[in-house]
Amino acid sequence: MNAPASERPLPEHAPMDRFAVRDGELQVGGLPLSRLAARVGQTPFYAYDRQLLTQRVGELRAALPATLKLHYAMKANPMPALVGHLAGLVDGIDVASGGELRIALDSGADPREISFAGPGKQAGELRQAVAAGVLINLESFREVALLAGIGRELGLPARVAVRVNPDFELKSSGMKMGGGPKQFGVDAEQVPALLAEIRRAGDALAFEGFHLFAGSQNLRPEAIVEAQCKSYALALRLAADAPAPVRTLNLGGGFGIPYFPGEQRLDLAPIGANLADIAGRAARELPQAALVIELGRYLVGEAGIYVARVLDRKISRGQVFLVTDGGLHQHLAASGNFGQVIRKNYPVAIGTRMQAPRSETASVVGPLCTPLDLLAERMPLPEAYPGDLVVVFQSGAYGPSASPQAFLGHPPPVEVLV
Ligand SMILES: *Cc1c(COP(=O)(O)O)cnc(C)c1O
Repeated sequence: MNAPASERPLPEHAPMDRFAVRDGELQVGGLPLSRLAARVGQTPFYAYDRQLLTQRVGELRAALPATLKLHYAMKANPMPALVGHLAGLVDGIDVASGGELRIALDSGADPREISFAGPGKQAGELRQAVAAGVLINLESFREVALLAGIGRELGLPARVAVRVNPDFELKSSGMKMGGGPKQFGVDAEQVPALLAEIRRAGDALAFEGFHLFAGSQNLRPEAIVEAQCKSYALALRLAADAPAPVRTLNLGGGFGIPYFPGEQRLDLAPIGANLADIAGRAARELPQAALVIELGRYLVGEAGIYVARVLDRKISRGQVFLVTDGGLHQHLAASGNFGQVIRKNYPVAIGTRMQAPRSETASVVGPLCTPLDLLAERMPLPEAYPGDLVVVFQSGAYGPSASPQAFLGHPPPVEVLV
């Protein structure tokens, strides 16, 4: 324990063993990576594995209470084919814009099980949502007035839940989205007044429940358990002022996946046990309420890889640089510029040399004229050469749709669901 820092082993990435390896090559959806690259017809590309998506939903179902509804927060990955695949496996889709709403409706998801959240909903988007019959998570007093008008105009009551900005924070989450002053939701202390306005709107609004989302990318089960307990207690308190019985209670999500060295996969067992406990209480205290959790990256992140081809191998003053055709413009998160405070490496491998020893330290960079264009910085890797395929794991969430694709004018990556 007391060895000097220089002798302690460096933290490692969690094992990336969800994709098989055969004859030294990574397999995606049963295909060797080089054959998949030929099939796609270009690099770089993102590949998402259907089987792994299905498996992940199965693991969640096994760990969580049977009555709990599982929603997919599609901003994590809005690829239409992937949303369509997940729509057949989960109980609902959460959207954050009118554009996402169209994709969710195309996916075949039941509109009654689609919900729409976001702090700056435009009147046109709210009208789309009322006409579609989806549940709208109200985030301001302005939305109450707008929706009441739209409900009357269309002759359809707008289905609404109240997104609450809780009076607590999700400890140790990568991105805090509730607690303190926030642009998301309505502060818990203002919710009774908002509920009174909903009541005053009469038949134009149909109140259905509450939505709480404390934060995202959390790898500590005890922090998630605590946030879910506090969210439930807060919703129960607020329900006393509700204009109608609570029929849906969305407790958020925030389940993280391991990206960086030293991080471990989340243990679902304590989270499942706590949700079972909450479900038992809700059956007595909010008997009409369906409990919902909404997950983005946890459902899709580990099922996706980003693949770029090595174009050049350069040695600069003794350091190896693998220059690829992919980079920050297509995978902002792996470059360290999407919310990371201190840059750390995503798990990166040479997909065409999976069994070769990691015999050198190399940096994997992209083609952009900025030093920020890094996919891996000084990482132990097998010796790789032009033509090899670099793989960035944990890339199924917040990939191309969260990257500045126009920067430097390269063509967009292809996305495939295999
Ligand atoms: C972004 C978001 C999610 C998904 O977050 P993940 O970290 O991808 O699970 C869920 N709910 C809301 C309201 C969000 O804004």
